[in-house]
Amino acid sequence: MNFSNTVLTWYNNNKEDFPWRMTKDPYKIWVSEIMLQQTQVQTVIPYYKKWIIKFPTIFDVANASDDILFKYWEGLGYYNRVNNFRIACNQIIKDHNGKIPKTVDQLITLKGIGEYTSSAISSIAFNQVNYVIDGNVKRVMARVLRLKNFSKESLNKMKDFLSANIHKGSPGNFNQGIMDLGRDVCKPKNPLCSICPVASFCMAYIKNQIEKYPAAKKQTKRLPHYTIGVGIIWNKDKILITKRKKNALLGGLWEFPGGKILKNESIKKCIKREVFEELSIDVDVLKFITKVKHSYSHFKITLHAHHCLYNTGKIICKASDNYKWISPNQFDQFAFPKANHHIFPHILNQEVI
Ligand code: SF4
Repeated sequence: MNFSNTVLTWYNNNKEDFPWRMTKDPYKIWVSEIMLQQTQVQTVIPYYKKWIIKFPTIFDVANASDDILFKYWEGLGYYNRVNNFRIACNQIIKDHNGKIPKTVDQLITLKGIGEYTSSAISSIAFNQVNYVIDGNVKRVMARVLRLKNFSKESLNKMKDFLSANIHKGSPGNFNQGIMDLGRDVCKPKNPLCSICPVASFCMAYIKNQIEKYPAAKKQTKRLPHYTIGVGIIWNKDKILITKRKKNALLGGLWEFPGGKILKNESIKKCIKREVFEELSIDVDVLKFITKVKHSYSHFKITLHAHHCLYNTGKIICKASDNYKWISPNQFDQFAFPKANHHIFPHILNQEVI
């Protein structure tokens, strides 16, 4: 059997029935592809299910408020995906009469859709013959073709191979097959070569040189760490939250005001200074609530949260897009960064200041 039939047969016999595999609806396949970027399948499944119920079409996404969209994305990370997705839905409504286009050339003009996603949607939803290259495919190809790195030259060799070997009758299933193969069999460490369907095509396996392909990555740099003072600012029974600027990291999410501590600055002074700099209000910083350590993909933080009392000043949002005074029982109505969630129970379990 040739390479394409081998991958396809293996996929048909081994595929997992993820919810987005029960449909050919390009919208649903698109949602899954966007959610799966940088995110594990098992994490995506519950988000995908809830999203499809709440927003069954592109029109529902286009008509939803930012806060609702972000709430349904909360915890998935890489929040610019939500903004781009909404913009792309509006592009389709405006430029394509609300119908998701079929070709890579059209799909790639949509906000947030690149080479990989356009090929995935066109092949899986519309059966167009376009191969995909994600991290899993790269690893399989590096071993099959004995490529040490992912240079432009190596990628061109992968493209030539995939172009010649993609299954012309079932390109979408072939693509999903090779991605699944990379995820479940041709794993980064200890690939399961003894059960691999493409072992007879794999040059690294045939030459007994699997550990050489692809070459091990150099050690990545340590993530930067920031110490941050956070104010839970009370005004009677309400707490102040601010919305992060849309183009910032974690943009569009709500948070408690605060910021990075300066050298030799106390946490309390930091909170008072940051709140004034960002919102033009004066607060009294009161007792310590909790310390939260959290790692995001590109940095680590330690938050030091303190109760504060609003004192004077009219709020002017200098470092945020919006603000609200809310009751603690409204936390679940807004999307917050994960680290803020660790503070909620400490507030909910305390008496109002
Ligand atoms: S034989 Fe081993 S190294 Fe080669 S593709 Fe299969 S799992 Fe990967």
